[in-house]
Amino acid sequence: MQGEWIAMSERDVAALRRRSKGVTVLPLGSIESHGPHLPLGSDPLVLRSVVRRMAEQEPVAVLPELPYSFVLEATRRPGAIHIESGLLMDLVENICDEAARNGFRKIVLIHGHGGNVALHWMFCKRILERGKPYAVYSIPPLPDMGEFFKTVMDTEVLGHACEMETSMVMAVEPTLVRMDRLHGRVYRSGRPPDVGPAFTTVEWVSRWPEMPVGEPACATADKGEKIVSEWVDRLVASLRKIKRDRVVLRVMREFAAERRQGGTLKRYGGRLR
Ligand SMILES: [Zn+2]
Repeated sequence: MQGEWIAMSERDVAALRRRSKGVTVLPLGSIESHGPHLPLGSDPLVLRSVVRRMAEQEPVAVLPELPYSFVLEATRRPGAIHIESGLLMDLVENICDEAARNGFRKIVLIHGHGGNVALHWMFCKRILERGKPYAVYSIPPLPDMGEFFKTVMDTEVLGHACEMETSMVMAVEPTLVRMDRLHGRVYRSGRPPDVGPAFTTVEWVSRWPEMPVGEPACATADKGEKIVSEWVDRLVASLRKIKRDRVVLRVMREFAAERRQGGTLKRYGGRLR
């Protein structure tokens, strides 16, 4: 893979830091059940392919992917490797600190695991809270692709090990997919507690106890290739904007300085009304 951190020498990484304008990416996957037909590491396997194609188009240092994530709901099924939420945040922060120590001041998290949406939000806030001397840009899984899916997919209920995800694994790792194990099975949502619009602790486990969603039997490699290439295009476009960005670090510095000086009270002359 182009720009792969673990394949570079110390000279290479210093050169790429300049050529990439100090941008590095950290891919985040997960290891969890994806039904009877897909590998446990479907997220990191698809993400690896997506990131490789992105890095061929736009120079960037690619940190080794983190295959582990928060997959608590999947621990009811065989194969999950769950990382406790606090430890996961600390670990991702530690990796970002190390990348920044190597001179990469723009760190891009590329999420491949749908369940990382909460981490994606909270981690950015934590970096601001802690006044870090580097910027974090976090790209959620399959960013804003809901409308695009409608043009490619035959079914509407998508989520995990579904028509969409199965198609992507068929496109990038065809030998690891066992469609013969599905027997046309349709996975329907269970009944979550009727407390809307409240979100609850059991949102996922009450809906999808077996993990797969919808009709994975409708998947094809052709659909998967369309999704993967759209995802790659969106990542490349985002990476180019991130390289041009002059706002995030400046505002973070101003925000941190203001907090160090006493924040709001100081700004309003020591009085709050
Ligand atoms: Zn997945």
